[in-house]
Amino acid sequence: MDKLKFKLAMFMQGRYGQDDLYKGCLILYLILLALNIFLNSRIISSLLVLLVVWTFFRFFSKNIAARQRENAKYLILKNQVKNKYGVLKKRFSDKEHVYRTCPECHATLRFPRKKGVHDAVCPKCHKAIKVKVR
Ligand SMILES: [Zn+2]
Repeated sequence: MDKLKFKLAMFMQGRYGQDDLYKGCLILYLILLALNIFLNSRIISSLLVLLVVWTFFRFFSKNIAARQRENAKYLILKNQVKNKYGVLKKRFSDKEHVYRTCPECHATLRFPRKKGVHDAVCPKCHKAIKVKVR
C-alpha cells in the first residue's frame, strides 16, 4: 500500500492539482448533470464531457503558471458575481431605504424611504438630483 502511495506521489510531483477553479468546475458539472436528467440534451452531455476533460487536463498539467493565471481570472469573476449578488440581496432586504443611481456619475445612492419628490445632492459628483419615492 505504501508503494502505491509513493508511486502516486511521484506521479503528482510537479503537477498542478486542485484549486478554486477545479472546485467550481465540479460544482458546474454537478449542476449540469442534474439539469441534464430532466432535459436529456446532447449539447449538455457534450459540455459535460468537455468539462471533465478540461478539469482533468488542468489537474494533471505541469504548466503551473498558466493554471494559476486561469485560477486568478476565475477568482476575480467569482468575486464580482458574489459582490453583485450581495448588493442585490442587501437592497432587497432593506425596507427602510430606496436605492437610486446618479445620472451623472452612476454611483449608487441610498435614500430614506419617504414618499414624495425630494431634492438631493450626489456626494460623489455634487450634482443636484430629484428623487421620487413611491
Ligand atoms: Zn453623482
